[in-house]
Amino acid sequence: MLLEKVGAPLALRDISKPKPGRGQLLVRVNVCAVCRTDLHIVDGELPAPKLPLILGHQIVGRVEALGENVKGFSVGDRVGIPWLGWTDGECAYCRSNRENLCDRAKFTGYTIDGGYAEFTVADARYCFHLPDQCDDVDVAPLLCAGMLGYRSYRKTENTRRLGIYGFGNAAHLISQVAIYEKREIYAFTRPGDKAGQDAARSLGAVWAGGSDEMPREKLDAAIIFAPVGALVPAALRALAKGGIVVCGGIHMSDIPSFPYVDLWNERVITSVANLTRRDGEEFLKIAPRVPLKTKTKIFPLEDANTALDKFRAGELEGTAVLVVSSS
Ligand SMILES: [Zn+2]
Ligand SMILES: [Zn+2]
Repeated sequence: MLLEKVGAPLALRDISKPKPGRGQLLVRVNVCAVCRTDLHIVDGELPAPKLPLILGHQIVGRVEALGENVKGFSVGDRVGIPWLGWTDGECAYCRSNRENLCDRAKFTGYTIDGGYAEFTVADARYCFHLPDQCDDVDVAPLLCAGMLGYRSYRKTENTRRLGIYGFGNAAHLISQVAIYEKREIYAFTRPGDKAGQDAARSLGAVWAGGSDEMPREKLDAAIIFAPVGALVPAALRALAKGGIVVCGGIHMSDIPSFPYVDLWNERVITSVANLTRRDGEEFLKIAPRVPLKTKTKIFPLEDANTALDKFRAGELEGTAVLVVSSS
């Protein structure tokens, strides 16, 4: 499936099988999970995607062939391909363990081709071995929603009371990790979304309410997964002194102004960009220990446009996973 023009539906095209270059894997795609970022790209909310583009950056497949000089993978291995597809390894960010901020980074399904296809090539150094306990469909959403959620969660350090605004896929995954690590989850949904609040409570949240409500206790930290800038001042007001608000999305509407007193007392606002390979490795280690449960809805690859439309309309209960071929 190709995105030929921003704003247009994906076009089904025959695409010739790519050849793995030096250091690359040719991967036969089994499944590719759909991420909100895919929607942001289709809808033109992220600048300058490669065009035409094969979307998709939560890819699970089998290694079909190796380029020269590949280390750590063999033909037949199951691999996960995430959002971070390549970095230069030499800029100031890469040299200080912040490859997620690399000036020249390339991203799967955005600036390099991704996994809404039968085959893809990927730089082996950025691919992951996957835990055997998780099947393809269940592990795919961990590759972005899970890993970026995990990076957002780690930014909150060892805080006890953790608010989560926007209780979608990333929140669902990261709450399980947080509860496993004995944190208290305060779940904020769209005002009036009783079903969402019930779901959060049944997952183990100690409190669930609308984003316009205040929890009974001040929060030590909050993560915002919803792409809604107005939630930033709302979350700040729910924080105790010294608390942190982590914006976990790649795109957000403008943040309205707010009085300085809401930031005063060493409250912090930060964002999370991309992931490092270390985040991914840590997360894939912890996932089977929790053990993480994913909620998914399966679509055949040909129905990628339907999956995107349903996601945009908020009609999906779990993560959409495109099934290409079964392993
Ligand atoms: Zn770099
Ligand atoms: Zn993503």
